[in-house]
Amino acid sequence: MIGLLRHSDFRASFVIRASGLYLNPLSIFHFLCEFSQMRRAIYPGSFDPVTNGHLDVIERARKLFDEVVVAVAHNDEKQPLFSLKERLDLLRETAGTIGGVRIAEFSGLLVEFARAESAGAVIRGLRAVSDFEFEFQMALMNRKLAAAVETIFLMPKEEYTYLSSRIVKEIARLGGDVSRFVPACVAKALGRKCS
Ligand code: ADP
Repeated sequence: MIGLLRHSDFRASFVIRASGLYLNPLSIFHFLCEFSQMRRAIYPGSFDPVTNGHLDVIERARKLFDEVVVAVAHNDEKQPLFSLKERLDLLRETAGTIGGVRIAEFSGLLVEFARAESAGAVIRGLRAVSDFEFEFQMALMNRKLAAAVETIFLMPKEEYTYLSSRIVKEIARLGGDVSRFVPACVAKALGRKCS
């Protein structure tokens, strides 16, 4: 069994201090993940707000991985409708109730976050050809930055292929009914924002 472990990680979890043996908690966490061979993936995005399309992708990813970390990006370039906390809370109330799904936030490089989480894959959703060019470029750049992290594209149910957070916000702003496109708590939150 020990033969499966990376010796460098094992050694890194023990730091000899003048005062004695010190166990580095992060290294121990990585060590245990490798030991248990847990397959973890990161699903990053803005989730402004989470839609049924996102939830469909999360459920598909969960069938492939032991744990899916839904990671909300701090993105200063975009002007989100929902604050980071609101986006995290809506995700916790929806995706967070699915077993094996964890909600997190991250800033900086995605591949660094994936490494810190010991995740072997990044999940992205592909709706249409229009998503492809940007996603392909991002995936190849991430591979250059971290060859060990694979990007996996998942297609949602056909009925969600036209769905985006942007279009849902637009409908809500114009007073339309979004209840078919988002979970109930998100529809309520949109109603409050747009009233
Ligand atoms: P961004 O990362 O552009 O801010 P989002 O937070 O809206 O995008 O979405 C995160 C990921 O989920 C992206 O890979 C996006 O393509 C995907 N996605 C968004 N909506 C859907 C949907 N309806 N079906 C499948 N994938 C989706």
